[in-house]
Amino acid sequence: MRTRSQVFCDFDGTISRRDVTDTLLEAFALPEWRLIEAQWRAGEMGSRECMRRQVELLRCSRKELDGLLDAVAIDPGFPDFVAACREAGFPVIVLSDGLDYAIHRVLRNNGLDNLPVYANRLRLRPDGGYGLDSPHADPACPSENGTCKCALMRQLARPGFEAVLVGDGASDFCAASEAADFVLAKQSLLAHCCENALPHAPYTTFRDVKKLLIDLERDASVPDERASIPLMTGYPHHG
Ligand SMILES: [Mg+2]
Ligand SMILES: [Zn+2]
Repeated sequence: MRTRSQVFCDFDGTISRRDVTDTLLEAFALPEWRLIEAQWRAGEMGSRECMRRQVELLRCSRKELDGLLDAVAIDPGFPDFVAACREAGFPVIVLSDGLDYAIHRVLRNNGLDNLPVYANRLRLRPDGGYGLDSPHADPACPSENGTCKCALMRQLARPGFEAVLVGDGASDFCAASEAADFVLAKQSLLAHCCENALPHAPYTTFRDVKKLLIDLERDASVPDERASIPLMTGYPHHG
């Protein structure tokens, strides 16, 4: 008997190597975007409000936008991980507090345009400007994200599947705490899981994720085999 996983993947910094929204802002936004970023870091606004205001500062043509997106690199192990999940019957869903347009384009460039994506909606305005809608925000979520991943994970959960979250940062905190059965974590999400004693394992690349979720499960002669690898809760986090 194997554990069947429903895999919820963050996009920015998890599937993509760099944060695509930050890359876009650095390249094309009016300089005020950094001020707004600082206000968000200081807790003066939620991430939804912050991103909406920043996206309105973008000044680039569609061609420039697409050109930058076409240079975005993803974790090289991700396509192989998705293929292995498909073979194992594990659904893979992308949950992102980033921009749907960017995600769809990057996934399509990598032959992965069939993955379901839940993210903020980048509005391409007829005057050439940009706006942001957040169809998956949840006013009840304390994270104030544009995309509330905890609400989405609960909504999309399949009975009989273990809800696994793969992520790297603050946009994953509410889902890790409230909705995931198990978390694969790096960067600040790893610290969050440690501090809150959430069931998790650290990873660096999707090659590790595949090993943890699929290869070990497949090779397991006993269902609890995965417990023999170092799953960590509550070890002190290193900066
Ligand atoms: Mg991220
Ligand atoms: Zn939430």
